[in-house]
Amino acid sequence: MQDCIFCKIVRGELPSTKVYEDDLVLAFKDINPQAPVHVLVIPKAHYENVLELPAHDGQLLSRLLSAIQQVARELGVAETGFRLVANTGPDSGQMVPHLHFHILGGRKMGHGMA
Ligand code: 5GP
Ligand code: ZN
Repeated sequence: MQDCIFCKIVRGELPSTKVYEDDLVLAFKDINPQAPVHVLVIPKAHYENVLELPAHDGQLLSRLLSAIQQVARELGVAETGFRLVANTGPDSGQMVPHLHFHILGGRKMGHGMA
């Protein structure tokens, strides 16, 4: 999508600190980290949120999951644990309408989900 900031990151029109990339998936550091490890894992194709992500696209789903696992291991939070969040729609506070999975770790998370 032309004006989507994450599509611009995918196209290299905006800078990012990449931590994983393949032909379908990109992971990069969040610009405003909420934890010592805060990475966003996105499909390169533009889907607004998990509701739009095609459930039948096994290749993409599998690649997203593999990327999440690889990033967690490489950034050292696989053992200590991390939170995986995909804000979806207005009540979630989703700011960027391009599907992204937050990986948050490197500190103790609160018990609340809010
Ligand atoms: P949301 O609230 O939509 O789930 O999260 C959007 C996330 O994207 C926020 O954590 C925000 O800091 C991050 N973000 C917004 N713009 C940029 C950007 O241009 N570059 C990077 N790396 N992260 C961004
Ligand atoms: Zn996009």
